[in-house]
This record gives sequence, structure tokens and C-alpha cells, in this order.
Amino acid sequence: MKIPFLDLQPSYAASRAAIDAALLRVAGSGWFIMGKELEAFEAQWAGYCGSAHAVGLGNGLDALHLGLRALGVGEGDEVIVPSNTYIATWLAVSQCGAKPVPVEPDARTYNLDPARIEAAITSATRVILPVHLYGQPADMDAINAIAAKHGLKVLDDCAQAHGARWNGRRVGGTADVSAWSFYPGKNLGAMGDGGGLTTNDAGVAERVRVLRNYGSKVKYHNEVKGLNSRLDEMQAAVLAAKLPELDALTNERRRIAVQLLDGLAGANVVLPFVPAEADPAWHLFVIRHEARDRLQAALAEQGIGTLIHYPVPPHRQPAYAELGMGEGDFPIAEAIHREVLSLPLWPGMSEAHIDAVIAAVKGCA
Ligand SMILES: *Cc1c(COP(=O)(O)O)cnc(C)c1O
Repeated sequence: MKIPFLDLQPSYAASRAAIDAALLRVAGSGWFIMGKELEAFEAQWAGYCGSAHAVGLGNGLDALHLGLRALGVGEGDEVIVPSNTYIATWLAVSQCGAKPVPVEPDARTYNLDPARIEAAITSATRVILPVHLYGQPADMDAINAIAAKHGLKVLDDCAQAHGARWNGRRVGGTADVSAWSFYPGKNLGAMGDGGGLTTNDAGVAERVRVLRNYGSKVKYHNEVKGLNSRLDEMQAAVLAAKLPELDALTNERRRIAVQLLDGLAGANVVLPFVPAEADPAWHLFVIRHEARDRLQAALAEQGIGTLIHYPVPPHRQPAYAELGMGEGDFPIAEAIHREVLSLPLWPGMSEAHIDAVIAAVKGCA
């Protein structure tokens, strides 16, 4: 049996009539940028997240970048980021002219460890930027409390965590600003690039609306040096068409995750750890194994697709050579990057798929 790492067809099928109708509606409207599809999706997404405002943007990286800029982050500022994350989190900080200051994760949850944050705070720190990695929510209660104590803002990277909850509260409504990606492979994915942010701060929402559109509120009058980063009408309409199915698809991910956790209990791998306060979105199902590359090759031989999220931590990337950080500087992140392997987990996986993944991992690990 061949089991791909990800198959987006079942998610399309779940909303196919609504998506196809939305695409045709936009094609026939003759209006493709900054229109009523975007306005409608923004209202729906804000409501889903329990947030006062949503602003649609071109992609998740721009959402992080513009969210930071709207919080006033600029040259000379520092932003606390996880040492293990997708590099986009760090790039957004650099794009503001600010410095990413890495903090190690909790070795069990892989999320920013609140106990290590205060040691990294300096007089230049402006924002704490947690990532809900793999769809597992970070400890927002602890992080918000530290930020409040030090007069800092919190921007959370929600790119992998659509619908995840910490202590019963959905991510996207519990930070000063929340950044989203709607990249096709994310839990709520467009049919192209897409992103956005949610916030309860009307001023932040207003500044980002200006920044996404050349720094202009009134056409051809430019208040600030903005970007062109807008969620287009096609993508907004697709996302609005898919949103009603999101919770059902997330529940399916949860059911599959529970089956994988049960089936792999006792296997020679480290399984995802879910704190009692967490209700994950299960964007990825990530295990650890000391001979990760051998395990990945053995699974591939049995037709099972896996990926590594991520093979090289940001501080070891040539792009961040300027920080002068090396092997050994962030040992928890480095060990995670050496050992993690993401197994297939997607809505539409059959019982036979799930059983085959469990049997193969047990046989190879
Ligand atoms: C996908 C992702 C991003 C970037 O989103 P894009 O829409 O691809 O720009 C940022 N952070 C994390 C954690 C992601 O997974």
C-alpha cells in the first residue's frame, strides 16, 4: 500500500460544491482584489477565532512581519523567538530590522519554554513570539503573564494551529496579535498563497490594513512605506467556502491522532506529548527516533511518505551566519531537529492507512 505524506483531495471533496461555486462566482464578478469576498472572510475568520478584527494578507510570512511592524517593532529592537521553528518566524523579525533572540523549547512539548523566557529579556526586547508548533498550542497563560510583567507584547505564530485551544480558549484570540498562514497544506488552506492576522486591537488592525496596501488608506495617497500583500478575492472565497468544514476536519485529525497514539504506545519511538491544558489542531504528528534517517528510509521502502519538520534549525542556517551561532548553542532544538519525523496524518486517511502506518513504524523502529 502506498500512503502519501499528505493528500489534499479529501479536504477538497468535503467542501467541493461550495469551493467550485465560489471560484465561478469570483471569476464572473470581474473583481479580484480587495472586495466583498475578502470582507466576508475577514468577518468569518475573526468570529471563528473569537477576535475583534481579522485582516487578510498575502501569506503567513507577511502576516508575521506586518503584525510585528504594527506593534512598532523596528531597527534595534529584539524579539524573543523559539530556537526550534520554521525559519519564517525568524525572517519576519529580521525583515523589521530587529534581532531574533532564540529561546529553547520545552523538551517534551517542543514549544517555547516559559521558564526560559525571562533570562532572554533585555531593555531592547519588545515582543515575545511563540509558535504553536505542529498544531500543539503553546502555554499562552504563562507567556501572556510574563509579557504583562515586563511590559511586552505577544504575537503568536498560528500558522500550524487553526482551531487549537489552550485551556479551552482558541489560539488567535489570546495574544495581542495572531499571525496565520493559509498556505495550501495548512489545516485551513487556500488554493494558492494566503495569510492573515487576528487582533483585538483596532489600532493594529488599522495599521496593517494600510501597510498591506502600499501604505495607503486613500488611493494614491501614501502615509507609510507599505507592501503589496493582500489576500485576493479567489483565495478569500475559497477559504470562506472551506471554513464551515474546518471543525469536522480537525475532529477527524484528532481521531486519527488518538489512533496513532494508542497504536504506537510501547513502540520504540517518542510520541507527541499533549499537556492537559492543550487541545491540539494536529497539523503534524511528529515522533522522535534516535536513528531517524534510517527509520525514514525503512518507511519509504514500505511506501509510507514522511517528512522532517525541520532538518536544520534557524541558527544553523547560512541565512543566519551573521549571528555567529553554532552547533551546541541550542542543544534542545538541535536534538529535536536531528530526531523528529512527521508521519502521515490527514483527513480522509482510511483505517487501513492508519493500521499500515502503525504496523510499519512498530516493525522498523
Ligand atoms: C507555514 C508557516 C509560516 C509561513 O507561512 P507562509 O504562508 O508559507 O508564508 C510561518 N510559520 C510557520 C510555523 C509555518 O508553519
